[in-house]
Amino acid sequence: MPRTPQVQTVTFEVPVDFAMPSDLNAAHYLLACFPVALRAGEGRLALEGVVDPDLLIGVQEAMQWLAVWSTRLLRPLRIEVAVSQSVPESPRQRFAASFLSGGIDSLFTIRRNQMLYGGSHPGRISAGVFVDGFDIDPGRTDGTSEAALDELRAFADVAGIQLIPVRTDLRRLDMSNDAWMHQLHGAALAAVGHSLKARFFRFYVASSYHIAQMPPWGSHPLLDEHYRSCDVQVCHDGAEYTRLEKVRLLAEWQPALAALRVCRRMRHANCGRCEKCVRSKLELAAAGALSKCSTFDYAQLTAEELDQITPSTAHKAQWYRELVQPLAAQGREDLARAISRMLRRYAVTRTVHGCWNMLRTVDQQMLGGTLARAKRAFHVPRIREVPRITRNQ
Ligand SMILES: [Zn+2]
Repeated sequence: MPRTPQVQTVTFEVPVDFAMPSDLNAAHYLLACFPVALRAGEGRLALEGVVDPDLLIGVQEAMQWLAVWSTRLLRPLRIEVAVSQSVPESPRQRFAASFLSGGIDSLFTIRRNQMLYGGSHPGRISAGVFVDGFDIDPGRTDGTSEAALDELRAFADVAGIQLIPVRTDLRRLDMSNDAWMHQLHGAALAAVGHSLKARFFRFYVASSYHIAQMPPWGSHPLLDEHYRSCDVQVCHDGAEYTRLEKVRLLAEWQPALAALRVCRRMRHANCGRCEKCVRSKLELAAAGALSKCSTFDYAQLTAEELDQITPSTAHKAQWYRELVQPLAAQGREDLARAISRMLRRYAVTRTVHGCWNMLRTVDQQMLGGTLARAKRAFHVPRIREVPRITRNQ
């Protein structure tokens, strides 16, 4: 029986001055849809309109990287779309822009760019693009987006760049957070970039990781640079710097310290308590800048708080490891010791997980699943509380 096709609409809302009117280019829809189709196991993706041949080739190569990283769970699909035979003339001079979330990576990209590129250089970032619907859930209606825009507009004024607000619901195509982090977000940022190409020829995407620690990730130098066309460049920026090196550069720039937002749990400030907030406060303390940063609702930093945290990945463990010596040098031996305890907990957790995985592999490959069956046979179901239903009389 044939499947009933489901219709989903994806929209990009950009300021009218920045869009290409009556543009047949389907670049942004290709970039928004191909990772979703890949994850859905589709065999083909058909698009109306045209895309630049550079982008079509780039997306085909990006799919191969994503397939290899998924250990072949994902399979590259066939893309059916016409390729453009020429480049449409842009009606105006075009500039460079950077995606701007307010986090350490995106603020670093702007700061480093402004230090290197002179005012008239075409590579100098002239605008920050804030995407409503990426870090902030597209369905959130508590004013968080508006507050973020106000904060970033104030930063942009001081930094001498323009703030470009964009709204898109493309995340609704696949709401899995894991998919967003591992396959989607680099292509999604590039999709927004292509929708703004009337005014910008280059987009900087701030790297989340240093080259030495770079895991397979949805925004990666091996992916992002492939999302270019002959008239739009996508630059993965800052991967040669560690987190702490980025924070040290920002510690000398008060506009960044007044705008820094690493967490959007609360509307008007960083919550100060989640793992990301605590780690960011540690990085600021290690750079001697925590007291200069006013955007944390809860600005204290104690060893007891660190004793509640165990890093969930090797990359996070490395970020913490990098802070031990600099925190001690800042006179915070209590925090340095707490991180050392945290890293010992992480080592134990990793060893236990490693042993379980090895046992599971031996069981599957040499014992035919005997241990797993025995575990199920002796498994005592956990008693869960049955929710009581009460009716109003
Ligand atoms: Zn937080």
